[in-house]
Amino acid sequence: MSLTALPRIELHHHLEGAAPPALIRDMARARHVDISGIFGPDGGYFCRDFPQFLDIYEAATSVLQGPGDYARLTAAVLEQAAAQGVVYLETFLSPDFCGGRDLTAWREYLHAIEEAAAAAEAAHGITLRGIVTCIRHFGPDKARQTALCAAETAGPFIVGFGIAGNETAGHPRDFAWAFDMAREAGLGLTAHAGEWGGPQSVRDALSDLRVDRIGHGVRAIEDPALVEHLVETGIVLEICPGSNIALGLYPDWRSHPIERLRKAGVKLTVSTDDPPFFRTSMTREYDRLADAFGWDEDVFAQINRVALDAAFCDADTRAAIAKKLEPADV
Ligand SMILES: [Zn+2]
Repeated sequence: MSLTALPRIELHHHLEGAAPPALIRDMARARHVDISGIFGPDGGYFCRDFPQFLDIYEAATSVLQGPGDYARLTAAVLEQAAAQGVVYLETFLSPDFCGGRDLTAWREYLHAIEEAAAAAEAAHGITLRGIVTCIRHFGPDKARQTALCAAETAGPFIVGFGIAGNETAGHPRDFAWAFDMAREAGLGLTAHAGEWGGPQSVRDALSDLRVDRIGHGVRAIEDPALVEHLVETGIVLEICPGSNIALGLYPDWRSHPIERLRKAGVKLTVSTDDPPFFRTSMTREYDRLADAFGWDEDVFAQINRVALDAAFCDADTRAAIAKKLEPADV
């Protein structure tokens, strides 16, 4: 099987962060909202660094104003992901943006997203699951309300709980209550750490939030004892190399620690994070990794098997996706 034909699993992906710029521009125009400053000369999103990325992200998200908009967004995003060979996608969903953490409103948004996902699955063969995500720089009180939304809607579609946003705001322990509630609801847990925060931020997420996976986590490479701990415990890193490079965390692909982490035995997966913001796609990620480190089909197949094991979906879904990962000629 060639690299381009490989079915792909993506576990670290923000729904609004995958919004095609043309869709956001259309919605802004229809609502007479001027967000022209977030686009560059080529019509794509224009961001230079992480603080600016957060601002642009919130500006783009501000034009998404109801469940119908999220249905359109979901359909557009899944069509694009399926075209990139993605067969299973877990995306971060934020009740902050979907109804302001009001449970009734959140259910309406979720219903619209799930309907669009079911239609996309029928049309393109891609399966979507949701990870409810609180926003770290919005603070622990809002995270509690977000966790309540997550716990109330946990099920076959909402399979996880996470935390995103500015990694330097507050401390993971401030969010322990929200994660405890999500864990009791049976949700899989993940936290952004070890991107802007150093190795200690990964240690804190593991000890204070007791997560199963770490979003990014790449800066664990700076602490050999932590790398060893990740190997021993089987914690999975959701690595998004293109995102890290676009935001200047590493100067180029060959400097990215993904290969050193893999060789050390850390379980890791590959995702796009917020693909149009970082001018990337799953195909680009795979191509660049193959160029930089000589990764072949076997390495990518192994990474997709790790991702399948680490997915938060139920056993039936996992079995169905496993079949899609098998080579067609076996
Ligand atoms: Zn992310």
